[in-house]
Amino acid sequence: MSPLPVLLADRFVPGSGVLEILGLAWYASWACGLLVAARDTARLRLRLWLLFSLVFFGQLALGLILDERFLMTGRLHLPVPALIAAGPLFRGDGFFMPILFAASALVLGPAWCSWLCYVGAWDGACAAKARATAPERLAASARIRRFTVWGRGATLVLACAAALGLRAAGVPGIQAVWLAALFGLAGVGIMVILSRRAGIMVHCATFCPMGLVANVLGRLNPLRLRLGQDCTRCGACAMRCRYAALLPGDIEQGRPGLSCTLCGDCLGACGHGCLGYRLPGLSPAAARMVFLVLAVSLHAVFLGVARI
Ligand code: SF4
Ligand code: SF4
Ligand code: SF4
Repeated sequence: MSPLPVLLADRFVPGSGVLEILGLAWYASWACGLLVAARDTARLRLRLWLLFSLVFFGQLALGLILDERFLMTGRLHLPVPALIAAGPLFRGDGFFMPILFAASALVLGPAWCSWLCYVGAWDGACAAKARATAPERLAASARIRRFTVWGRGATLVLACAAALGLRAAGVPGIQAVWLAALFGLAGVGIMVILSRRAGIMVHCATFCPMGLVANVLGRLNPLRLRLGQDCTRCGACAMRCRYAALLPGDIEQGRPGLSCTLCGDCLGACGHGCLGYRLPGLSPAAARMVFLVLAVSLHAVFLGVARI
């Protein structure tokens, strides 16, 4: 039903899209197999997420330099996540991205922010580069936690109010784009300076408004992460969380805080197997399998069709 070929293969060799679909399906099956078998998925998840971001921005570069067919429609927009909310408010149309974002929250909960976002992977990579020790990361997590709601709430209000204000004032689109680019650059600065120092994804946990929206909308999905009864309160899982979502107080309560993205990194840190996904009516192992299949399937689809 699409008015233009969505798959790259169809654009270069009409009719060959089915082969691309088969290739993506094979890749998804291979990646899911690796994740299911791995006891600790943190590094692998980050690599898969970075691969998506690389393909996404690689296609943008190829589209600008080499061949327009690497672009989705040729109508460019800024890949700043805050614009998922602010862009349609400024333009008064173009609701595809908010609908896609909300649909992903229905299917995967808040895991847009650990599997599907084209920018969040950079924050994950910056945090992973930090030299901070695990206790230092935990201390940073406790400091950052205070900003996960009101910090991102403030940028959400600011971005939406700015979009509506610029629209009401009749500001030309190009000037609004420059303001949005400044917002995006501020975010990159936070990743490179603060996340790299703290070992926590400071940008995603405190600055990006869509992170808060994902956390709240994600509650519509029944998938949850929970600590089991036999938890020894050793705290090893808390030192693994880069979203400031698992502090000693959360361990006491048996559940992570609001900023949890269901990334699953903490599962591999628990030597007792006390942490797991929960879905009503399913065992933790089955819930994990359902989550991984859904996450990797969407990741593979996004690899094939997400571009600017
Ligand atoms: S918080 Fe923002 S930048 Fe980070 S993963 Fe979520 S949408 Fe992307
Ligand atoms: S609590 Fe676990 S699953 Fe949730 S964000 Fe932190 S590491 Fe990821
Ligand atoms: S690592 Fe396991 S046992 Fe230790 S606090 Fe976390 S869930 Fe409990």
